[in-house]
Amino acid sequence: MRIVVDEQLCKGHGVCMGEAPEVFSVTRKGELTVLQPRPGAALRAQVEAAVKYCPTGALSIEPGE
Ligand code: SF4
Repeated sequence: MRIVVDEQLCKGHGVCMGEAPEVFSVTRKGELTVLQPRPGAALRAQVEAAVKYCPTGALSIEPGE
């Protein structure tokens, strides 16, 4: 899977980091860095939770390695 971020929508709340800290890092200023743009299957549940709970709907998952 591949993580796609809509940077226009991301407001830096950090919910994604709370759900998947190995994949997302958000600074105190609200700048998001995707640490693993193509996370392995072991992280899928965490990433799906981050996508689901992101308050602005900025995250999505695309299929693929
Ligand atoms: S939870 Fe959504 S809005 Fe918040 S930092 Fe992550 S991607 Fe951005």
